[in-house]
Amino acid sequence: MPKQSPHVVWFRRDLRLEDNPALAAAADSGAPVIPVFIVERPDRLGGAARWWRGRSLEMLGASLERLGSRLILREGTPLDAIMALLHETGARHLHINRRFEPKGLGIDAEITTEAGHLGIEVHEHQGNRLHEPWALKTLKGESFRVFTPFWRRLAENYRTPQAWPRPKKLVAPAIWPGGLPMEKLQEKAIWTTGMAAAWQPGEAGALVHLKSVAGKLAHYHEARDLPATDGTSRLSPHLAWGEISVHEIWRQLTGSGKAVENGFLRELGWRDFNTHLLYHFPRLPVESWSAQFRAFPWEKPGKQFRQWQKGLTGYPIIDAGMRQLWLTGWMHNRVRMITASFLIKDMLIDWREGEKWFWDTLVDADLAQNAGNWQWVAGCGADAAPYFRIFNPTTQSIKFDGNGDYIRRWVPELAKMPARYIHAPETAPAEVLIDASIRLGRDYPRPMVDHAKARQHALDLYQGRGQNPLSGPTPKKQDDLFS
Ligand code: FAD
Repeated sequence: MPKQSPHVVWFRRDLRLEDNPALAAAADSGAPVIPVFIVERPDRLGGAARWWRGRSLEMLGASLERLGSRLILREGTPLDAIMALLHETGARHLHINRRFEPKGLGIDAEITTEAGHLGIEVHEHQGNRLHEPWALKTLKGESFRVFTPFWRRLAENYRTPQAWPRPKKLVAPAIWPGGLPMEKLQEKAIWTTGMAAAWQPGEAGALVHLKSVAGKLAHYHEARDLPATDGTSRLSPHLAWGEISVHEIWRQLTGSGKAVENGFLRELGWRDFNTHLLYHFPRLPVESWSAQFRAFPWEKPGKQFRQWQKGLTGYPIIDAGMRQLWLTGWMHNRVRMITASFLIKDMLIDWREGEKWFWDTLVDADLAQNAGNWQWVAGCGADAAPYFRIFNPTTQSIKFDGNGDYIRRWVPELAKMPARYIHAPETAPAEVLIDASIRLGRDYPRPMVDHAKARQHALDLYQGRGQNPLSGPTPKKQDDLFS
């Protein structure tokens, strides 16, 4: 029977055995290891992410059992839950991989203090980002606000750490503490069917998936903007749940040099950049970064907001994206930008309403990435797209989904529309609509707003010609695509 007091490993968004510094350190101690996951109350996760979490924890539990261990599930306020577990098990060591969300940081600091009073050591490890958000500074010693210099600094300084080995065995404690049954966390509602068909949550699925990504990257640069193709890695939910380590992705993909050349690693850099922003500006999810935007007269979300959520706007590319999101818990990045721009700039709805909807429906929902990107599209974030960039959903659709294959897949009522009219069915001649079995307003909605008018209205407001006090230079030149 083991005599050493156990080490507790508290899993959060690092649901993996491979390259997991907190787990590796506990295993290395030679002491019994108690892996735990706490469903933190209040549970702020959205529905789609809850589904993913349940499946991923099931996988993690099964992997731990193969090492002679198990995953203890608890729920409650994290401070109480973790302190109770440490007390019950007599553990003197707690291992965590650092997290950077403002609430999580506060909780971890509180636990470290409380544990310290009891002589329990909290070991914090770095395992979830390429760099710690405080590690990179501008030449003036400040945090970064602009992505390109941030990325340059990160890429220059980054040294891939040696992988932390997957433990071969974990010593079990003499007595296992009790926990919740795994079934308690499984979301089985009917709306999860599409997600279950689209994804394989868990570390094993993530590692298999990563192998298939390497082949795709040769064409990443050209394919990443085409939503009908399988041109991006689709690693985001695996990364969001830490089922794969970002260092491992870097290790596996830099061998050929391709990932660097074609910009893939730069995208991973955005993940770190948004984390950096959130760490230095904890109000990122709730307040526009740019003070000028804080008094913007947003419209109240009503019927049109619900049409946007359901994918019934009458703009096929938007409807395709919103339905892909609802059915699979994921949306292609190009379409995330188009749908977000439409909500904010054509409908004048507060970016935080869109952020909340994405939070509830994305399997990859991540506080920093979601807020950072919504602020970027709104034009109010650090290093954001200028506010006068208003995506034209129809031109975007023609450019990035020329044949309309993405639209046909997610908006099946338009399946018979010819490519020429699929991007704007209301422009099709009557006989084309008849051939495609579409009666506008019945089988598929007419556009719910007139983009040209909505765009002008938004620009007027942004430039202070409406009631909004936002001021700034009138854009001299605008990209056609955005007009
Ligand atoms: P790839 O193109 O294969 O990129 C590889 C990885 O790089 C991604 O898995 C992701 O971790 C990272 N990455 C790529 N683009 C971005 C980006 N713009 N910002 C940050 N990281 C990026 N991503 C999330 O992970 N969680 C979110 O909650 C989220 N919300 C978003 C909301 C809006 C309005 C927008 C416009 C984007 C959002 N993104 C979010 C970023 C991006 O859309 C997804 O990361 C990407 O679509 C995931 O697909 P992929 O794994 O195939 O990406």
